[in-house]
Amino acid sequence: MALDALPLGVVVAAPDGQITHLNDTARRLTEGGVRTALAWQAVLDLIDEVLADGEPHSQELQVIGPPEQSLVIEASRPPGGSGAVAVIRDITELRQLEVIRRDFVANVSHELRTPIGAIAVLADALANSPGADDSERLARRIRAEADRLTELVSDVLDLSRIEALRPDPAGPPVDLTAVVAQALDRSRPVSESRQVPVHVSTQVESAVVPGDESQLVSAVSNLLENAAKYSDAGQPVELELRDAGPDAISVVVRDRGIGIPSWELDRIFERFYRVDRGRARGTGGTGLGLAIVRHVATNHGGDVRVSSVEGEGSVFTLLLPAEPGPMGLVAEAG
Ligand code: ADP
Repeated sequence: MALDALPLGVVVAAPDGQITHLNDTARRLTEGGVRTALAWQAVLDLIDEVLADGEPHSQELQVIGPPEQSLVIEASRPPGGSGAVAVIRDITELRQLEVIRRDFVANVSHELRTPIGAIAVLADALANSPGADDSERLARRIRAEADRLTELVSDVLDLSRIEALRPDPAGPPVDLTAVVAQALDRSRPVSESRQVPVHVSTQVESAVVPGDESQLVSAVSNLLENAAKYSDAGQPVELELRDAGPDAISVVVRDRGIGIPSWELDRIFERFYRVDRGRARGTGGTGLGLAIVRHVATNHGGDVRVSSVEGEGSVFTLLLPAEPGPMGLVAEAG
């Protein structure tokens, strides 16, 4: 029956309350033991209420895990008919996204508060400072905190822009050599101030991939900035464009910097995660750079990988499909 193909659970009841149809999704969401018995009971209760007063009734329900589920059940009388129909929607993913968003807002607020607090304290100190030397030093520190705020806000905006806009699979292809050139320009202030030379080599015949140029520039410049930030002066960074199998190109960024402890490697792509907060403050990190890189990789149907040895350096590999298709750009869901 066509109803079985629906992602919604549908339960149909006759005027006497007898269940006359249950589609596959409804079965999956409500059958299977104690865990889902509550959901089934809620469906029956709502159907009873509709049969009693003819009005629509609904309820949101948490099914205790694992796996935990959030369901919305809406029951009503079918238009022009008799009996009742209950529709069950699984909104687990929606609720999870809301939690992630709430955490993100809390994290952003927390991260903003630190430099804002510092600016307030420094401004008070400036107001009370007697000497010109002091004023200059304090003003410089206020400026540094203001720069930090700007960096944070621009990373947050970058991330939300990248999350909101999936590249168009039918859009014009992107030349990765142009992406690399722009990323070099963008990351130059960091690599120059850290005195880290960047060497680029290309080992691909064609460096063209489907995707979004500005997102790819963001990703590659974040990798280059990190390589420079976490390296000592004079330690070179290498960027290579390489073939990765028949249908993929990788952008490899290798540094000889401080490296990352192996137990942190899984976490560095999380938003706001920093290996060493004290160290990151010194280098002006926001903790969002690698989250941006990962999101750009996912948007392009690709991946980002890291290998690193503490004290020796890190290699980040951004893997990008060279063709649109199942392995290529992720089409917008829905
Ligand atoms: P940040 O803005 O702090 O650099 P990222 O998301 O870009 O944030 O990186 C997360 C953390 O991963 C950094 O704080 C740093 O500890 C670590 N990290 C990232 N890239 C490198 C690298 N090339 N070498 C060493 N550590 C790195």
